[in-house]
Amino acid sequence: MGKDSGECEVETGAAVVKESALAEYRIDSAPLVDIPRRTDTLTSAARSERMSRIHGKDTQPEMKIRRLVHGMGYRYRLHRRDLPGKPDLVFSSRRKVIFVHGCFWHRHPDARCKLARLPKSRLDFWQPKLENNRARDLEKQKQLVEDGWRVLVLWECELRDASGLEQRLRSFLDD
Ligand SMILES: [Zn+2]
Repeated sequence: MGKDSGECEVETGAAVVKESALAEYRIDSAPLVDIPRRTDTLTSAARSERMSRIHGKDTQPEMKIRRLVHGMGYRYRLHRRDLPGKPDLVFSSRRKVIFVHGCFWHRHPDARCKLARLPKSRLDFWQPKLENNRARDLEKQKQLVEDGWRVLVLWECELRDASGLEQRLRSFLDD
């Protein structure tokens, strides 16, 4: 076990407590692609609440990556506050970071991504908000690269291809 595993366990424990209160949003038990179809029928209040959860740390996609990376034998720290953008996973000695981004909230720039589609209602509210998130992400990533970090961004919709994911992680972390 690496020296960072204790910290990882503490964070994981906190996330479990948090998630148990959020039974409605259990995306590990449903296909990810079902979420945007349902969100269009949400009231704006329900949507805001859901988005604030997705925006928070310890999301299901992030937990999935943590488990995978940990199982592959790599050790990391979580959300280092001293780094731009508080990267989700930080591999300090390798000087590498990974962000796990929800496609909707972080505006996945891929036309094929169904999760990133904008809602039909209140577009005037969502579009600038989400574009702003995207711009902020890019700015933080730029700062990290300028400070000598290498950055990998994994998108929520990419996580279903487990073997491809493992390969990408390995080549990023070992390179
Ligand atoms: Zn996506």
